[in-house]
Amino acid sequence: MHFLKEFDRKDSMQIGRQLHGFAAELYPICRSITGDGIRRTLAMIQDRIPLQISEVPTGTPVFDWTVPKEWKIRGAYIKDAHGKHIVDFHQSNLHVLNYSTPVHATMSLRELKPHLYTLPGHPDWIPYRTSYYQENWGFCLSHKQMLTLEDGDYEVCIDSSLEDGHLTYGECYLPGGSTDEVLISCHVCHPSLANDNLSGLTVATALAELLSGRDLRYSYRFLFIPGTIGAIAWLAQNRESAGRIRHGLVLTCIGDAGGFHYKKSRRGNAEIDQAVVHVLRHYGESSEILEFSPYGYDERQYCSPGFNLPVGCLMRSVWGTFPEYHTSADNLEFIQPSQLAGSLRVGAAVVDVLEENRRYRNLSPYCEPQLGKRGLYRATGGEAIEMEINARLWVLNLSDGEHSLLDIAERSGLPFTAISDAAELLRQSGLLAAIPDGTTDPTWEGGSQANLEKARQPKCNQGVAALD
Ligand SMILES: [Zn+2]
Repeated sequence: MHFLKEFDRKDSMQIGRQLHGFAAELYPICRSITGDGIRRTLAMIQDRIPLQISEVPTGTPVFDWTVPKEWKIRGAYIKDAHGKHIVDFHQSNLHVLNYSTPVHATMSLRELKPHLYTLPGHPDWIPYRTSYYQENWGFCLSHKQMLTLEDGDYEVCIDSSLEDGHLTYGECYLPGGSTDEVLISCHVCHPSLANDNLSGLTVATALAELLSGRDLRYSYRFLFIPGTIGAIAWLAQNRESAGRIRHGLVLTCIGDAGGFHYKKSRRGNAEIDQAVVHVLRHYGESSEILEFSPYGYDERQYCSPGFNLPVGCLMRSVWGTFPEYHTSADNLEFIQPSQLAGSLRVGAAVVDVLEENRRYRNLSPYCEPQLGKRGLYRATGGEAIEMEINARLWVLNLSDGEHSLLDIAERSGLPFTAISDAAELLRQSGLLAAIPDGTTDPTWEGGSQANLEKARQPKCNQGVAALD
């Protein structure tokens, strides 16, 4: 578990402040599913991690969808009869219905009202509304403000364009020892919203920074995409190679004060499901596990039946269940440095499990090998040593080529760290041999006597770690 251990050696509050600082830099940008806001956002991510940016032209068919026109917005306002700007895009980008068509007209309050969106239940907040696939224009404002509007003429102006252009997304690919991939996906298409959008994006960027340049078992692909249409466009363009995704996570809403929620992949029993559930139980804070459902974030696309990829969704508060969701109250105060750091910590622990979860074969399976003569058994020494010995016995017993270390951790009730540390020690002692990646048959060729002998040779000259 070296990424988790590495994280725990650092000052997590400082990490949290850095994550929050990055969110604060990104917060003012008016993002949408296309346009310059998403390009600026990707450029800022690119300052931190290697990011390949793709542009998909408007009109490109992507499965049952078509890449929409590109939206650009320069400004928007409502002016009252006295010439006063009562609503202005430059005060909050949430004021404009996202993807509004351009308009410049003078109209009565009665004509304007169908284009105004408010939240009567939270009269001080501005709602976030979009109209991506139906051309429309509108303004969002606090209900309190709307109640103050008097009859009379209003000048409305939305200086936007909706024209042929591109859909933009970014991907950061970190090659590992295997071409099998771990996918981390987050949406980057919401304007000034912190938890729903920026929390996932900042944590994913930091996780990519943590893994960058490291010796990795898997290759890692981080996707920064507009929600729904971005995932659909990416899958349409990578239909064949998507099969390399062995494990995946959608990260979203992971900066608020709530406990963790993990929504399982459509498969429900994928290794990623098992890994996240284990990590949250042993290393996380309070958490709840949710079964798969076909609504939510981009796991909907990755888990569509044609792909059925093992991709789950890690959240703190679940979208739609907190009142701040899709409102101006999902702001920088709503996300907290400690929560962002805690989410990165869970991400690091999940990566550790995926990287180290292997199957092993006990090379001395007839009765227990004598641990004492190898310095691997000590009858006294307290609880810690008891757990270490317990972990060794579990690993030896269940390393039959079928059980993975994560299976053993789950069955024994011990944390994965204890199990993987035990496996490494036993391997170094010549009692275990790792079953190579991609080999599922427990009677794999490597189990022949000659290969067992070979596997007993230590792979490196590192001695068995002293227990005392
Ligand atoms: Zn959203």
